[in-house]
Amino acid sequence: MVRTDFRHPDGRRAYLYGSFLEAPQGYRPAPRAAGLYERRWNPLRREWVLVAAARQNRTFMPDQVDCPLCPSAPSHSSEIPAARFDLAVFENRFPAMRPSLAGAEGGEGVAEVVVYTDQHDVSFSSLPLDRLHRLVDVWSDRYSELGSRRDVQYVFIFENSGEEVGVTLHHPHGQIYGYPFIPPVAELELHASRLHRRQGKGCLQCELVADECEAKARMLFVRGGIAAYVPAYARYPFEVHVAPIDHRGALPDLMLGERPSFAEALQAVVRGYDGLFGRTMPYMMAMHQRPTDGRPHPEAHIHVEFYPLLRDAGKLKFLAAGECGAGTFVNDSLPEDRAQTLRRAMSRVEP
Ligand SMILES: [Zn+2]
Ligand SMILES: [Zn+2]
Ligand SMILES: [Zn+2]
Repeated sequence: MVRTDFRHPDGRRAYLYGSFLEAPQGYRPAPRAAGLYERRWNPLRREWVLVAAARQNRTFMPDQVDCPLCPSAPSHSSEIPAARFDLAVFENRFPAMRPSLAGAEGGEGVAEVVVYTDQHDVSFSSLPLDRLHRLVDVWSDRYSELGSRRDVQYVFIFENSGEEVGVTLHHPHGQIYGYPFIPPVAELELHASRLHRRQGKGCLQCELVADECEAKARMLFVRGGIAAYVPAYARYPFEVHVAPIDHRGALPDLMLGERPSFAEALQAVVRGYDGLFGRTMPYMMAMHQRPTDGRPHPEAHIHVEFYPLLRDAGKLKFLAAGECGAGTFVNDSLPEDRAQTLRRAMSRVEP
């Protein structure tokens, strides 16, 4: 897919993937928000906290005419340097990490926004399949490019969807954080997989997917080398993991035949979610893959984790003291039952 690179006047990079129509005359994107950025160490948890004080003022639920992710019009310069586009990526005006100034070196990680379409009123679940396939290619390109940066040790691709998750823009989009360290959740999983390998048992994720394929009880989708299932150890009711069945460390390792199925599995899950309670399901989507810290990491196996927030119609799953203060989830439902319910919802909406 063709990629066209841009630089905003404040140094932020933007990329258009596929075809596009040039921005109207006088295009002038808003500059990066100024503010304090600090990385602070929490010695009790031995983990980083990112202080990004400029983010308080970020755009909150704008009307469609002011949407920063819509194409630019003569009367409105959005974040996108085009009057029409397929997919776009740009550096966030309100990044979570200290950006490099005017494109110079010296940044500490990177925060990008991935815009799935120039249509404001669609959603991940209604995107056409060829667009989804291209989204996987865009993610893969971002993984490779950001991962090659010296200040990026982990490329975290994710999506927050729904106001309950704190989404401040309705236009369909996801995000990418290029962290200057391996974040703790990823590190925890990699550590478990390393132990598994050290015991001579091979890749942990390979084994987990194989187990779920064999058990079948929690399986939702198996096609083209990709599996989606409610894991036996789901923390959220309706939590779903999506992974290649064969060992693949990161997006660029996916075989040509696996890429479309990967995209289709993600959409099938989201459509199933939306079919559960007759309303759009608020969810978080997190992609875990091989770190980009220069080490080989044979223990990493790419997978996507969905954390949907509704546990029942009109009932939100809150992270409360047990989850936040003790780190122990209570799942008040049987993952096997939830898988069955979700499977039914998915078959209702599958084309
Ligand atoms: Zn929009
Ligand atoms: Zn594996
Ligand atoms: Zn994971």
